[in-house]
Amino acid sequence: MKKIISRLGLLLTLLLMVVTLSACSSAASQKNVLQEDKQTKTITWGVKADTKLFGLMDVKDNQIKGFEIDLAKAMTKQILGKDGKARFIQVTSQTRMPLLRNGNIDAIMATMTITPERAKQVDFSRSYFDAGQAILVKNGSPIKNVKDLNHKGAIVLGVVGSNSVQNIKKFAPKAKVLQLTDYSQALTALKSGQGDALTTDNGILYGMSIENPGYSVVGGTFTKEPYGIAVDKGQGKLRDAMNDALTKVEKSGEYNQLLYKWFHKVRGFDLKGAQR
Ligand code: GLU
Repeated sequence: MKKIISRLGLLLTLLLMVVTLSACSSAASQKNVLQEDKQTKTITWGVKADTKLFGLMDVKDNQIKGFEIDLAKAMTKQILGKDGKARFIQVTSQTRMPLLRNGNIDAIMATMTITPERAKQVDFSRSYFDAGQAILVKNGSPIKNVKDLNHKGAIVLGVVGSNSVQNIKKFAPKAKVLQLTDYSQALTALKSGQGDALTTDNGILYGMSIENPGYSVVGGTFTKEPYGIAVDKGQGKLRDAMNDALTKVEKSGEYNQLLYKWFHKVRGFDLKGAQR
């Protein structure tokens, strides 16, 4: 009898645990970010602040400026209406996923490539910009393309949390990769001669070469990097709203206007090819 009672007790405890656990997980997935944003009339975006052309802090007025900032603002208006506000929180390639998963931001629009690995942890919108990985070198450098980096002794600079530092290992496996915390530090490292080349997406590198005409993007792109907006798992409604908003911004011609505003003067950038 005692045995039966203790078994029954164990069974009840297990049952209680299962009920509590499932209640917890449904509470998490019940949090409807889109609904909350509609109530507060605000979407909190995680954006880059170290990346000219996409998202760069302007120290003069303390505002982050770039293509992604303008696109996020346009999409916010589509989702929340004219009085909707876009709030911006700075992220780096390394901090963007944890900040999203902890609920500090609602969505990431930060030069983030849609990859199968990342799609296991977050949900992506469809691509809003198609980039490709390239390298930036000092003018006159003997390095003309990524293959020239494939030798012992070559040092390639990149940023922690970017997929560029993984990709480069496939294209120049013999080179040493030095990872910095963000793109301004990576550029400083290149300029002070700590590496032979800096690698990331072409658009980001173009932004650097505009500011630093002594440096050029060489050799073309060697990967495809479609940028997606990331939302937390379980926020399918928000992801759908993002896709809808993107379609509207594209159809209205606003997308192409923004593309023109930020990229028409960028040497080497294929504006026609990027238009939608
Ligand atoms: N698009 C690449 C990535 O998502 C490189 C740019 C970045 O570091 O954000 O990792």
